[in-house]
Amino acid sequence: MDFKYDVIVIGAGHAGNEAACASANMGSKTLLITMDMNKIGQMSCNPAVGGIAKGQIVREIDALGGQMGIVTDRSAIQFRMLNRSKGPAMWSPRSQSDRHQFIQEWIKIIANTPNLYVWQDTVRQLIIENGEVCGVVTALGVEMRSKAVVLTAGTFLSGLLHIGKSQIVGGRISEPASFGLTEQLKSIGFATDRMKTGTPARIDGRTIDFSKMTEQIGENDFHKFSFLDTVSRNLKQMSCWITYTNENTHDELRTGLVDSPLYNGQIQSIGPRYCPSIETKIVTFADKLSHQLFLEPEGVDSQEYYINGFSSSLPLDVQIRAIHTVSGLENAQIYRPGYAIEYDFFDPTQLKHTLETKLINNLFFAGQINGTTGYEEAAGQGLIAGINAHINCHGGKPFVLGRNDAYIGVLIDDLVTKGVDEPYRMFTSRAEYRLILRQDDADVRLTPLGYSIGLVDEHRNLLLQSKLKVQKDLIDFVKNYSIKPAYINSFLSSNGSSELKHGCKLHDLILRPQFGISDLAEAVPALKDKLQALPDRKDEIVEATEVLLKYEGYIEREKLIAEKLQRLEHIPLRGRVDYASILSLSTEARQKLIKIDPETIGQASRIPGISPSDVNVLLVLLGR
Ligand SMILES: Cc1cc2nc3c(=O)[nH]c(=O)nc-3n(C[C@H](O)[C@H](O)[C@H](O)COP(=O)(O)OP(=O)(O)OC[C@H]3O[C@@H](n4cnc5c(N)ncnc54)[C@H](O)[C@@H]3O)c2cc1C
Repeated sequence: MDFKYDVIVIGAGHAGNEAACASANMGSKTLLITMDMNKIGQMSCNPAVGGIAKGQIVREIDALGGQMGIVTDRSAIQFRMLNRSKGPAMWSPRSQSDRHQFIQEWIKIIANTPNLYVWQDTVRQLIIENGEVCGVVTALGVEMRSKAVVLTAGTFLSGLLHIGKSQIVGGRISEPASFGLTEQLKSIGFATDRMKTGTPARIDGRTIDFSKMTEQIGENDFHKFSFLDTVSRNLKQMSCWITYTNENTHDELRTGLVDSPLYNGQIQSIGPRYCPSIETKIVTFADKLSHQLFLEPEGVDSQEYYINGFSSSLPLDVQIRAIHTVSGLENAQIYRPGYAIEYDFFDPTQLKHTLETKLINNLFFAGQINGTTGYEEAAGQGLIAGINAHINCHGGKPFVLGRNDAYIGVLIDDLVTKGVDEPYRMFTSRAEYRLILRQDDADVRLTPLGYSIGLVDEHRNLLLQSKLKVQKDLIDFVKNYSIKPAYINSFLSSNGSSELKHGCKLHDLILRPQFGISDLAEAVPALKDKLQALPDRKDEIVEATEVLLKYEGYIEREKLIAEKLQRLEHIPLRGRVDYASILSLSTEARQKLIKIDPETIGQASRIPGISPSDVNVLLVLLGR
């Protein structure tokens, strides 16, 4: 066996799988090395994908030719579009997945991707020669050579689990930790630190009294993650259930605080502020008498339920007693306890926007090891790292997404520019151009880019072309079709909208908030005929067109602002200024610019501590 590859990806988690599929699909001979082939794409925490801002990332991954959307749709057991009460910029798809099916779908994809090979083993060391990574050495003592390496080791690097006072070395429950890589990278000069995350206990559904809980049913319309017409959601749909903690729960939890690793000094590292443990919630929000919990099914053939909102590393007996105080969980049997985990991560300011490290050529980092949290954030990074690893092997322009292109662009720019001081998760508020980063148009934004680099195939590209054509045709129709008052006024008044005094175009009525294109079609037969004649994916295309029409003015304004601000992104900076010698820059600015070494003036302007006057100094220096 000849262990020579273009790209080696370490770790078959959410980042590693996307990285491996991307580089292989683009034509690189790729090897995915992972500790356990049966855990490919394992969801370490809850079996859910998407949610606010994260759902947009999954749509973006799909639009670029990645896999997470396909795997999620095929394993979905409850789908919902979140934030519907807000504008379309905020709509975010979310899905519960069947945990085992999720893994199976990943295994199927990986097994059928040309150029992609899998090796079950643990990487202990990178082979580095002349400042360049050239391969890896594994625990089985195998030396494998490659032109690029993508490291996506997740929470496994020096992982340490905590349940009360018990400390167990591991990368996830019942899985070994990984040693050697952090030590080697540290010795080369990489800055590393520790972070923490946690997960709740899992309950046997046969012991839950659902009659005491509120049922949350999923949605069964056309929405899904993948833009591909060949992918659908076919699994049986299941409900989630809502219940609450109460004062008794909080009293039980308080009894455990003395032995809580979070409060007795056992855990020192920082956890995700937005996903606090239940013990953190009762300490931080001491006046709150109850916290909402979601009981989420883990799969169609499973009795296992995940208690979302009850992440804990308290001693096992405290967790059990507290769970038994919750309405509907009085007799709950638990399958697995909650636990916390501490792990190593690397300061992401050590990376370029391609996710290649600045220190070692052709070495890429992606996922949780860059200080992020979440499957979607990991997968988005994996995709970009895999694409650029392929490009480094075969030539081409680095593939970088801007902040106005994608949430993935926002994510990576934030990481490499600002670094992290807590696990980074995506929020819509992190993006300055939310209205142009919608979930409905991720294909319009990104599929052409994916096609241009050879990741998007012909079929996906044709689907986009057909969507654009249908959209244009529909927009032309509603902008040109005239409506007379007598014809439409009864429809308008019955829908609470003011009657027309003069005729207008159909488009003017679509701008009204009371109804959409499909509602109007019921009153305007010509529009109904038009919609009926649309090809497949009618609902999806009509919805996306309606968003474009209703928000046209806002979208155009945001595009203009983005274009203006983009000017600074086009002024290259890296390698052009000796910051240490520019005394007109503040001391803080000099230090930050040396550390981050920004690629453009635009990136420099976003580094915390760089003031507008520092930016002006740089512009003057560059003769602007
Ligand atoms: C207990 C726990 C709770 C969590 N809670 C949340 C949460 O509430 N919310 C949230 O958003 N996220 C949570 N996460 C994080 C989420 O699981 C990660 O963000 C996501 O899985 C990261 O994906 P990844 O691909 O970077 O790494 P992982 O999914 O961890 O995958 C890493 C892969 O690398 C492999 N690997 C590691 N080292 C080596 C090596 N040396 N050689 C070969 N293979 C190796 C592993 O076997 C694994 O397959 C939690 C994680 C854990 C463990």
